[in-house]
Amino acid sequence: MAELKIGIVGAAGRMGVALVRAVTEARGCRVAAATERAGHGALGKDAGALAGLDLLGVALGTDAGALFKACDAVLDFTSPEAAVAHAALAARTGTILVTGTTGLTSAQQAKIRAAAKKVAVVQAPNFSIGVNLALALVEQMAQVLDDGYDIEIVEMHHRHKVDAPSGTALGLGRAAARGRGVTLEKMSERGRDGITGARRTGTIGFASLRGGDVVGDHTVIFAGPGERVEITHKAGGREVFARGAVRAALWARGRKPGLYSMADVLGFTR
Ligand code: NAD
Repeated sequence: MAELKIGIVGAAGRMGVALVRAVTEARGCRVAAATERAGHGALGKDAGALAGLDLLGVALGTDAGALFKACDAVLDFTSPEAAVAHAALAARTGTILVTGTTGLTSAQQAKIRAAAKKVAVVQAPNFSIGVNLALALVEQMAQVLDDGYDIEIVEMHHRHKVDAPSGTALGLGRAAARGRGVTLEKMSERGRDGITGARRTGTIGFASLRGGDVVGDHTVIFAGPGERVEITHKAGGREVFARGAVRAALWARGRKPGLYSMADVLGFTR
């Protein structure tokens, strides 16, 4: 089978450089094109050099339309606005989209879903295998432990992260809500401060910590009468997400249109 031609949008970003490295290390694919936003200092530079590798002969440009036309799959870890624009291009060109961008509004998410009617889109708040296993376990635990067990989700990320709670924390919250047979929107408890009153039974609480260079720590706590059960995942480096995204792109080859998750890619049944 021919190598999968992969495009990387936002290729000079923190995830962008990790993606360039992961695609270069993986078998069966190569970096075919790369973009950055207009005005970015890395434009014109070689994607390999920016990722600390040998030259790849792929200079960063701004033409996302040309990138989608030239590639079989595109990896998007950018911003919500850019992710929506990239999804529209994926739908127009029939190019697979793997998107890990977080912080989308429900209107932006609806646009991703619309694009997935035309082309295969893999979207995950977290592309690491460990986190996806944690998602499956949290759903199962929430099913077994009734609302006598309070669910609290604590996350910590580096000081540059702009959205909170993290997409992964929300994903863990949705998994817990599914296990309980409730919707997260109705049950989530965010941003406690001051005289909050006693905890409402059955809610799912979130706390976000920011600091240093933490790549991503998540803990889901089930605090019950006389015991606490906790599931913790700590990401040591961005390569875990990048490797998962490349695996998703290779998996999506030849799939019919649809919005797929990392659980689909890994073959976990929910
Ligand atoms: P970053 O700011 O370092 O990188 C984003 C890059 O995208 C920047 O270089 C920016 O210039 C570029 N960009 C913005 N608009 C663009 C456009 N229109 N065209 C091309 N490039 C554009 O951020 P980051 O830490 O790499 O994270 C990026 C996103 O990925 C965030 O939403 C983050 O939460 C998410 N993320 C997801 C996972 C996951 O596994 N799903 C893991 C890590 C980060």
